[in-house]
Amino acid sequence: MISVEDALEIILSKPGNCGTEKVSLQHVLHRFLAEDIFADRDSPPYDRVMMDGIAINSSALSTDQPNIFFIESIQAAGDTQKILQQNHHCIEVMTGAILPVNTDTVIPYEQIDIIDKRAFSKQSVVPKKHIHRQGSDHKKDALALQKGKRLTAADVGLLAAMGVVRVPVFGLPKIAIVATGNELVTVETIPESHQIRMSNVYSLQAALQLDCIDADIVHINDDEATLFSQLSEIVKNYDVVLISGGVSKGKYDFVPAILEKLDVQKLFHQVAQKPGKPFWFGHHPVLNTQVFAFPGNPVSTFVCFHFYFRQWLFHSFGNGLKLPLVQLSEAITASGALSQFIPVKINSHDNNVSATLNNGSGDLFSLAVTDGFIYLPKGEKTHPAKTMFSFLTIN
Ligand code: AMP
Ligand code: MG
Repeated sequence: MISVEDALEIILSKPGNCGTEKVSLQHVLHRFLAEDIFADRDSPPYDRVMMDGIAINSSALSTDQPNIFFIESIQAAGDTQKILQQNHHCIEVMTGAILPVNTDTVIPYEQIDIIDKRAFSKQSVVPKKHIHRQGSDHKKDALALQKGKRLTAADVGLLAAMGVVRVPVFGLPKIAIVATGNELVTVETIPESHQIRMSNVYSLQAALQLDCIDADIVHINDDEATLFSQLSEIVKNYDVVLISGGVSKGKYDFVPAILEKLDVQKLFHQVAQKPGKPFWFGHHPVLNTQVFAFPGNPVSTFVCFHFYFRQWLFHSFGNGLKLPLVQLSEAITASGALSQFIPVKINSHDNNVSATLNNGSGDLFSLAVTDGFIYLPKGEKTHPAKTMFSFLTIN
């Protein structure tokens, strides 16, 4: 049995590679950038008027007499650049417009009265104000978005501003989610008293959608011949196989032996953690398929998916999944031999986290009131309130 840290290191040593592709701007949310993106022009690209009002040349300002400016013309946003003809005149300007030639100061409408095509300044004017200078946000060729970044909605806006219509992103792995177990029936079925509906495949399929992956679902009974023939095809046809169930010590837990028969090399079996101890991970060296075989208990499957698979996915795209630190509300005692993933909820009153009551690794009900898990390293110890722990979100 290996430690959580060693298991993770082994998994991250086998990153996936599904190439790159260009995807239209409307479909890149949460995809991972495959190239650095540089600014195609300065931002703002021109001296941009920041207030509706008038633009003047500050050399015409006088301190001893009232400032009155004859209005020559109007510069609206989207108009080509106008030229102020007479230094002591002005041009009406609108927010977003290019600053007219021969002007350097904007006076907002709030600070002037306009009577008969003349603008009367009501207060002293500060030169050079209300102009968003060309290139003051960033210069042409500045690094805008870094390769490996998981694109947010704000990034999509930035890509649009820079005219990136087809975005270079990493290709996504083709994934099969396999449920094993004779007791499992489909969601549509009314289960007999000895049966349960399979839920893991749906929770994993849904979780994968957050990373833009549409995975296929397969159910296989605990039968050696069927497992062999079906898994053989699946290992050939997919980049990643996520299996739930069949990896423990039961008489019908055939998955590890079958995978090895299929030349999927075992990299470890069993991790010193709770929940999720029977986790098996392997790699097919020729087909380059990764197999994550999680224990079937719904909470175990879910924790292993989020901690191991998701870190593997991010790592494959050159992006470390961030596990932020959170602070405990109450003291918590870690058990000796196993590291623990404790389900917690974020308290709205102080933003600390409290352990959620749960009934063990099969308790899906408890997940509904859980925001994520904290990771408690092994070693018998009471961690006092306010201790900081890594937080694994399950949004
Ligand atoms: P196993 O790891 O196969 O020993 O399964 C452990 C427990 O998880 C058993 O009670 C199974 O019935 C349950 N289980 C296995 N697979 C699923 C699944 N896909 N959905 C819900 N529960 C499952
Ligand atoms: Mg089973």
